[in-house]
Amino acid sequence: MIPRWASTAILLGLLLLVILLGRFAPEPGTVAEVPYTSFKALLAERTVDRIVLRGDDVEGHLVQPRALKGTLAPVERFRTRVPAFGDPELLPALEKAGVEVAVEPAKETGGWGVLAALVPWFLLLGFYFWFWQRMYRNLTGGVGGVGGLDKFLRRGAKSEAGKRSEVTFADVAGQESAKREVAELVDFLRNPERYRRLGADVPHGILLMGPPGTGKTLLARALAGEAGVPFFSISASEFIEVFVGVGASRVRNLFEDAKKNQPSILFIDELDSIGRVRGTGLGGGHDEREQTLNQILAELDGFSGHEAVIVLAATNRPDVLDPALLRPGRFDRHIVLELPDRKAREEILRVHTRKVPLAKDVDLAQIAAGTPGFSGADLKNLVNEAAMMAARENAVEVSGRHIIEMRERVMMGAVRSLAIQPDERHRLAVHEAGHTTVAHFLAHADPLLKVTIIPRGRTLGSTQQLPVEERYTLPEEYLRDRLAVILGGRAAERIVLGSVSSGADDDIRQATALARAMVSRWGMSEEVGPVDVRESEEHPFLGREIAQPRRTSEFTSHAVDQAVRALLLEAEDRATQAIREHESGFGRLIAEIEAEETLERMAIEGCLGAPRERQRVRRASVA
Ligand code: ATP
Repeated sequence: MIPRWASTAILLGLLLLVILLGRFAPEPGTVAEVPYTSFKALLAERTVDRIVLRGDDVEGHLVQPRALKGTLAPVERFRTRVPAFGDPELLPALEKAGVEVAVEPAKETGGWGVLAALVPWFLLLGFYFWFWQRMYRNLTGGVGGVGGLDKFLRRGAKSEAGKRSEVTFADVAGQESAKREVAELVDFLRNPERYRRLGADVPHGILLMGPPGTGKTLLARALAGEAGVPFFSISASEFIEVFVGVGASRVRNLFEDAKKNQPSILFIDELDSIGRVRGTGLGGGHDEREQTLNQILAELDGFSGHEAVIVLAATNRPDVLDPALLRPGRFDRHIVLELPDRKAREEILRVHTRKVPLAKDVDLAQIAAGTPGFSGADLKNLVNEAAMMAARENAVEVSGRHIIEMRERVMMGAVRSLAIQPDERHRLAVHEAGHTTVAHFLAHADPLLKVTIIPRGRTLGSTQQLPVEERYTLPEEYLRDRLAVILGGRAAERIVLGSVSSGADDDIRQATALARAMVSRWGMSEEVGPVDVRESEEHPFLGREIAQPRRTSEFTSHAVDQAVRALLLEAEDRATQAIREHESGFGRLIAEIEAEETLERMAIEGCLGAPRERQRVRRASVA
């Protein structure tokens, strides 16, 4: 098949050729169009044999063929027009040149002339229609007609009807409460008749909410697998096409398919991409999206209550969804999936290492402890990357080293080989030793995992801490110690080297953001008190903070700035004090970091002694 660009180019080339040939290469016997002045010059040269006058048109015959202005090949005949104001000298000049003159009536511009003028336009229009037809046919799957259009309208729905989903609840690790809620529906899907007989209305719309990679799709598949029913899935973004109305039509077809195959599960991923609040004009609101959303609402309303179809939708952003989607009768049951805690992470690792040969030194519990904040998808990726690394090294099993290396790469980026000068390296060691010493001796700081001055990703060195237990709220004393640890690097540079460096750039940014949150959001300053004075809000549609009109007085803003500054200065003082109190251990630590580049917890304790007994952070809870 000729590619579309080639056929277009051929057509355009042909058109161009016809135009050029007509202009520059008249065949012998064709008529050349010449200016009136050229005609007068030909008369003067006595090269004109005879002319025919038709109104203002002059058709001349040359004595012998010759090339004229604007022609490439010699011509015998030419054509010109006498100026509208007439030329009294023409007849004497013709007589003088001995030209035979014939006069004929002027030609009527007939239908042919009009047609000839219209031909290029017809060609252009024809080309336009041909082009659009091709494009439409390509979009409709090359079939054209109703079959192709139908295929196009149904495109995107990945129907796994007929096939039983292989996934079961055993493949979903952790997420116990979400699994429990979903499990209630298994019985309904297996045995809808029993529920129908008793007139029970089972919820049709279930919204799975949670951060990316927490297993929302996996849970929906597991429900289909457990119940042994067909699974229809589509990503909401696939509803939207260039043609208005296609999204709504796809929604209709998808619901139709699911109803035809009931009992079944219909899964709509990324619901927020079309289900955002309507009419805000933000987030690219346009008619097609709203029309599609309206169709989903209509389909959800269209259930008579007895269909054995369960519509599951997933979103990371329930806060931006249109309230109409969430009202009773639509997506009224909400199931929240959280980032996994330590125990759940261990279970997820167990699921994903089922088929991976692990070395004896791999302790999944320890890996789970060292991966706070990782989602199920992150953990799956970690195991996969470690297996890839082991395969690259031709190892027979995946060892703890592979997993730890990959964990660091995922968290901080790959190792960079930079030519670091000795004095800069010393400053780096001092900086990291500062963070480490403060973290080691402050009572509420997280325990240390390791310290390194090997550059990775965007950092030149790092001090890693590992929380003893998962926290859902952060108490003030923990946050104050956290500020001191962050500013400990800068404090150490000032103590040892007498100056600070730009290396503390990110530390200062982090510390300021944390201190500002403590003051303006969490009411942790006496001067400002429990007042919400945040200046910006994370914007749901932009996914980032944008400045809002100020809602606080000049006086309050000043007080906030003062309180933030006071918190940071106090934290820096505490960091300086902690380092000065343990100066000898701190000195040993700098030397050891410079010598070894990376120190684990035991080596750190070897330099600094036993850590201050850690205060167990009481779980703070807000009523
Ligand atoms: P998104 O919001 O980005 O669409 P999601 O919440 O739908 O993400 P899934 O696509 O279900 O996440 O998960 C991605 C992968 O992570 C899955 O293929 C699965 O292997 C793994 N995973 C996530 N959570 C779990 C879990 N609880 N147990 C086992 N594997 C999990």
